[in-house]
Amino acid sequence: MVEITRRSALAGALINIASVPYTQAMAFAPQAGQQAPAYYRYKLGEIEITTVNDGVGALPIDDGFILNVPKDQVNAYLRSIFMEPNIYSGPYNPVLINNGKQLALLDTGQGEANLTTSKGLNGRLLQNLKAAGVDPKDIDLVILTHYHGDHINGLLRADNSLAFPNAEILVPEMEDKFWMDDGNMGRAATPRMEFNFKNIRRVMTKDVRTRLRPYQWNKEVMSGVSSVATIGHTPGHTSFNVTSGDKSLFMQGDVTHAPFLFARNPGWHLFLDVDPVAAEATRRKVYDMLASERMMVQGFHYPFPAIGHVEKTASGYREILVQWSPVL
Ligand SMILES: [Zn+2]
Repeated sequence: MVEITRRSALAGALINIASVPYTQAMAFAPQAGQQAPAYYRYKLGEIEITTVNDGVGALPIDDGFILNVPKDQVNAYLRSIFMEPNIYSGPYNPVLINNGKQLALLDTGQGEANLTTSKGLNGRLLQNLKAAGVDPKDIDLVILTHYHGDHINGLLRADNSLAFPNAEILVPEMEDKFWMDDGNMGRAATPRMEFNFKNIRRVMTKDVRTRLRPYQWNKEVMSGVSSVATIGHTPGHTSFNVTSGDKSLFMQGDVTHAPFLFARNPGWHLFLDVDPVAAEATRRKVYDMLASERMMVQGFHYPFPAIGHVEKTASGYREILVQWSPVL
């Protein structure tokens, strides 16, 4: 039996290259040096859904990153799942929903201005929409899950004009009430909360406010798409049941951030959760439901294309991402 070792594999590769006749032309194409556009389509019954990636965010992991877990334990966990320690790479995945009558965009990513400041790491939504053949002018509705920057900044272009000039902007009523309240802003207890209040006021320009339409929970916001209260991450955080015929899907927003951290460790309290205890309770309730009903989930911070199923484990839940399909 031939034993395959790293050394023998390497030796084989060298022999193969050496055996190429010197007269055969070798094409040295220049390296591309950039990533492919990232959008992914699938059908849910009669509804066409497209994940349109906005990039990833990189957050440093310090002792306050997970409020109830020391940094060393978080880093040990990241190493165990083959990820870099000391840095949290959270993906951003807005979603297009086309129900045949209206085209909606669910959440908007970090915004075009961030493309430069992040050196291309995020703020890629408009580029990827273009690659997907979608004109931002054709979007009828922008539906927001909550008011954190990675979900609302993309309402504005780099010059602060409207990114989706013909869209109505549907926002959770509770979310808008909480963040637009000056009393709540005055009571902001952490620099992070202060930052969020200020950022929301920056994004909520007159042009944006003019197009705003608050929605309530347990209501259909467009045909086939109904709002569900999933509070904790923010006071008005909202998810969506998407249904067509006998097919259904749960669009979770930020019930978990990246599932490889917070679905697998549902008791971990991320510093971005406004009410971490409520966020954990919501997370466990939603993930118990997803696992027991074997329901498909789309997650804004899931790895692209951000769709999967969930199973229960001894310590939490595990996400199983869908297989790429070349046809709809
Ligand atoms: Zn988020």
